[in-house]
This record gives sequence, C-alpha cells and structure tokens, in this order.
Amino acid sequence: MTEGVIVFDMDGVLVDVTASYREAIRQTVEHFTGMPVNPGEIQDYKNAGGWNNDWALSHRICLDREVAVEYDNVVEHFQRIFLGNNFNGLIQREQWIPRGGLLEDLELRFRLAIFTGRERAEAFHTLQRFAPTVVFQGVLGDEDVAHKKPHPEGLQRIAAMYPGEALTYVGDTVDDARSAKAAGVRFLGVADPGNPRAAELRALLIAEGAEAVAANLNELEPALYGEPGVIS
Ligand SMILES: [Mg+2]
Repeated sequence: MTEGVIVFDMDGVLVDVTASYREAIRQTVEHFTGMPVNPGEIQDYKNAGGWNNDWALSHRICLDREVAVEYDNVVEHFQRIFLGNNFNGLIQREQWIPRGGLLEDLELRFRLAIFTGRERAEAFHTLQRFAPTVVFQGVLGDEDVAHKKPHPEGLQRIAAMYPGEALTYVGDTVDDARSAKAAGVRFLGVADPGNPRAAELRALLIAEGAEAVAANLNELEPALYGEPGVIS
C-alpha cells in the first residue's frame, strides 16, 4: 500500500523549459510580428490564467500585437522550431530539475503520476531521456483530456485510477493550482526565483490554496513527505 499519489505537472516542475517552450513562444511571436516579447510579458499571460497551451498563447500574443495570423500557421512554426527534425529542436535544451535519486526515493512510498498540457509524445520523449527507470503510474497528456487545465478532469481521472488514495498535485502555474482546487486535491507550488514575476506568482499560488511554495521541486521535498510546508 502506498501513502498516496504524487501527480506532477511537467513544465517548470520536472523540466526547466526556459530555453525550450518559453524560447519557442518568443521566437514564434518574433517570427510573425517582427516584435520582441520578453519573458516577463509571457509570464504575465501565464499568471492571468487560461494560457496553459503555448500554441494558443503564442497566437494570442501575435493578435495582441495586431498581427493577423492563422492559428494553424502558428502551431506549424512553433513545432518546427521546438521539435525540429526528430526532436533535435529547442526541446533538446530542456534541463531536468529533480536531483539524482529524488524520484527514486519518492516512488518507494508513493505512486508517481503526471498531468501535463504537453502532447504525450513530447512528454514521453523527455521522460525517456531523463528518467528512463522511474515508473509513472499514469501519464496524462494534452490528448488525454477533453477539458484542459484549469479544468480538474486530468486529476479526477488519476484519482479514479486509485480509489481511496490521497492525491497531491505539484505545479508552477495558477492554472495548476485552480485545477487542484477544483478537484479537491492538495496542491504544492513551485515559483522559480529566476522567473521574472516570481513574487507575484508565489502570491497567486498561495491565494489559490497552495499548502507550500518552494523555489524548485527539490526544495519542496519535505512538503512532499507531508511535513509542514515552508513558504519560501
Ligand atoms: Mg507547468
């Protein structure tokens, strides 16, 4: 019997995507609009909520710069620079966040699962690259849910897989926190001090019910084990 299920968001929690997804947004917007977009502006949209999908966000920023561009063209360009040919694009610049042994220690006591807005192929590529031996007992990607975050569908489906087991969701956006709240699931937050809106993000995560917020997943470890959370 395990002590519950820890469900991870991927981007910003397991994987530092500053140089991958966030950079793909930046390059895509600049390609279509000729105008730069800085990381703080991107985070402003994320903090407002509802912009979990980076294709939709890239499209929105283009429109907000009064450049009319088809959504499908945005997706195509984004994927070309992000995936490249056979995953040799910006996705290669991702950095794995968990310290060596963290997930292996956790899986001795908990089931581990993932609920991400990534497409499944992009999720599994990264897991295979950085954590090929860790067993995730449930990986839900973008195609697996009809309703995207902040909707709680993904968490509800993982909860249904393991009836009676307590869930904890670990996320780095206001949409993650809202999804957990709507599902009635305990939430732990990550707010990277390198994030251009880190203080605001930390306050938003707490306001949405985070039991603890830390600078990264490794510093959240005591809270993962149920120890009183430090709001760092
Ligand atoms: Mg995230």
